[in-house]
Amino acid sequence: MMTGAQYLASLKQRSPRIFYKGQRLERPFDHPALLPHLRTAAATYDLAHDPRHQATMTAVSHLTGARVSRFTHLFWTPEDLLRKVAMLRLLGQETGTCFQRCVGLDGLNAVWAATWETDQKLGTGYHARFHAWLRRLQEQDLMAAGAMTDPKGDRSLPPWKQADPDLYLHIVERRPDGIVIRGAKTHITGAVNSHEVLVMPTLGVPPEGADYAVTCAVPIDAPGLTLVFGRQSNDERKEEEGVDCGSPFGVVGGESTLLFEDVFVPHERVFMAGEGEFAGPLVDRFAAWHRANYGGCKAGNADVLLGATALLAEVHGTIGNAVVKDKLTEMVHLVETNYAGAVGAAALCTQLPAGNWLVDPLLANTVKQNVTRFVYQVARLAHDLGGGILSTLPSDADFRSSEVGGLLHKYFAGKAGFSTDDKRKLIRYIEGMTSVSTLVEALHGAGSPQAQRIVMLRQANLGEKANLARKVLGLGPPPAQAKK
Ligand SMILES: Cc1cc2nc3c(=O)[nH]c(=O)nc-3n(C[C@H](O)[C@H](O)[C@H](O)COP(=O)(O)OP(=O)(O)OC[C@H]3O[C@@H](n4cnc5c(N)ncnc54)[C@H](O)[C@@H]3O)c2cc1C
Repeated sequence: MMTGAQYLASLKQRSPRIFYKGQRLERPFDHPALLPHLRTAAATYDLAHDPRHQATMTAVSHLTGARVSRFTHLFWTPEDLLRKVAMLRLLGQETGTCFQRCVGLDGLNAVWAATWETDQKLGTGYHARFHAWLRRLQEQDLMAAGAMTDPKGDRSLPPWKQADPDLYLHIVERRPDGIVIRGAKTHITGAVNSHEVLVMPTLGVPPEGADYAVTCAVPIDAPGLTLVFGRQSNDERKEEEGVDCGSPFGVVGGESTLLFEDVFVPHERVFMAGEGEFAGPLVDRFAAWHRANYGGCKAGNADVLLGATALLAEVHGTIGNAVVKDKLTEMVHLVETNYAGAVGAAALCTQLPAGNWLVDPLLANTVKQNVTRFVYQVARLAHDLGGGILSTLPSDADFRSSEVGGLLHKYFAGKAGFSTDDKRKLIRYIEGMTSVSTLVEALHGAGSPQAQRIVMLRQANLGEKANLARKVLGLGPPPAQAKK
């Protein structure tokens, strides 16, 4: 397994085409806009070497028998799913932000199962190809971004009826040695600092849309692939020195839009090329694993946010107040409810025919639905306790100014024993972790709230519940049965 330093060095062996604010980044891995996200991903590599966290951060591969990063290991036992939740919380606590690697991990599991099932039914050779690619990922300890979301154009139309057929990524040419893909994937977390991109379909596809059913692995510097790094709340502060740049680990995962301009993918990297009936289950399972994650990682992030909020209340001299304590208790309640859901979804797992284990889909979707609300509620409480200064604090340059700096330090002092600099760091962290970028990530990451509600209703089996009510209350049989 690589250390963080080896991971950073390995990125520099590659030359991805990355744009940011209208410029191609000649040395992307030294650019201040990317550095916080590189640091966070590097922390996931370093923690895998910490003996205290070995069982959480690593696992023994069922493919090779070697110890590998848990981010490249399949959910091969129910315990792996529980350990994953523990890993997500730990990394959330260590970095206080999105650590980028769980989309890829859930994608590995979804593609493993989909390729196995496709081969069983259609006699294709996808699973052996994927097995070989995954083995290499494990052996070289590579980071894979998961690229599922297409730009989607007019959401009322399916991919093959869009005015521009490229609004969903698709196959434009089938060659004897591989396929050529065109389109885009957007919002892709951690892509700029990944080695590989695992491309997956974003929805189930009927036969008329077969070219949109495509799963494959593309190296980050493949010819024809361009990454456009997205903007975030307050992102120019990352380019500043001093307190205002916020946490060294940044906020959210450093998302990009990936432009595939006729990218050639050789056969050995293609895991689905037209078998649309397997795209739906792939997306559903990926979504279940991924939605459950949010109860783990957001709990870890919230641990840091809660700590920062409590510390700021201490600086304000309000921490002893019963109402303030009650608001902190409410934050704890919201965070632990999310965490309990993630643990529950993992505990009630079932084994897929391909051998890996799937979280309980109903609980997983419920967790994510809670996250879409509770993260906003936690942020509101942090805003409430932090005060208006979260929105109006003067810049670091003013605090350093020879003319007004002294006065600012005088008037922004808090409780004795806390420096104004520490107070400002707490404020900037809370500001970042409750910003639009962070909140929207909690809302839309892994699917919009409505996407969860569709699955929840499907999984809840209302017919069975109606039968329970009939039995308990001694009602007659359902009308259809009564007719028979
Ligand atoms: C910070 C962040 C990180 C992300 N990371 C990744 C990643 O690493 N990999 C990846 O693949 N994706 C990633 N995503 C994408 C994420 O999965 C999507 O944002 C999510 O699935 C919602 O899709 P959308 O953004 O296109 O919004 P939409 O799905 O368009 O949702 C917008 C609104 O439109 C509604 N809507 C959508 N379709 C219809 C319809 N047909 N009829 C009526 N209403 C409709 C929705 O319910 C919602 O209210 C990330 C997103 C964010 C914000």
